[in-house]
Amino acid sequence: MNKPDMERVKSLVRNIPDFPVAGIQFKDLTTAFKDPEALRLMADAMAEIYAGRGVTKVAGIESRGFIGGTMLAARLGAGFIPIRKPGKLPADTVSMSYDKEYGTDTIEMHRDAITTGDIVVIHDDLLATGGTMLAAYKLVQKMHPKAIYINFLCTLRGLNGRDLLPADVEVTSLFDFEGK
Ligand code: AMP
Repeated sequence: MNKPDMERVKSLVRNIPDFPVAGIQFKDLTTAFKDPEALRLMADAMAEIYAGRGVTKVAGIESRGFIGGTMLAARLGAGFIPIRKPGKLPADTVSMSYDKEYGTDTIEMHRDAITTGDIVVIHDDLLATGGTMLAAYKLVQKMHPKAIYINFLCTLRGLNGRDLLPADVEVTSLFDFEGK
């Protein structure tokens, strides 16, 4: 992964204070996605990490994880799986609930999306507290694939989300923000 390239991508991420609620510094990646070179650099960097590792499926978390997840799957010659909010997927699903700051949330995946022969990368745009990704990891684990990796475009280091994710799972991120 080329650091100056990722610094360039990071510089294109727009910070929106107090969105969607007061106190949140929202990292708006659409300003990086709309830049043709930055989009390609992100795809290249992700593909470089996972090339040659036998990845058969990339699971993207709704909805911003669909963008990078699909790019990565296509680059690797793997399939793409959507992990969605409840009631969106039409066929038989498996689900996982998790605690949020206020109340609980649930995510779902098609039951036939992953089989025991798969090597899976779970992808989301941003690691904050890690709660969403931990639930996605547990959901994918239910199908007992051969291996699971976790990838983010970026990480908010100040929230220590990495510590919530299993220590023995490889977690990668293309670039980091120091704050929360
Ligand atoms: P978490 O479960 O706390 O790790 O939250 C991760 C999910 O929420 C990801 O899908 C992100 O897209 C979104 N998210 C959380 N915090 C932010 C933020 N400050 N800026 C942009 N997206 C965020």
